[in-house]
Amino acid sequence: MNEDTPHIPAMVLWGYTSGVRNLADEHFQHLLFCVECQALVDEFIDVLDEIPSSKGPEAA
Ligand SMILES: [Zn+2]
Repeated sequence: MNEDTPHIPAMVLWGYTSGVRNLADEHFQHLLFCVECQALVDEFIDVLDEIPSSKGPEAA
């Protein structure tokens, strides 16, 4: 087996995208250069945009 760089766990990226946790330095460095993990973050952002409750109560 080659020593490939492991991707960031999806749950970690989800937590980071939804703002409930910070990325470790190694994960942040990985995210800067990994288009696959960046694409996953983009998908999570799209999902969050479609969840009304994630934006908090919209008091008019
Ligand atoms: Zn990755």
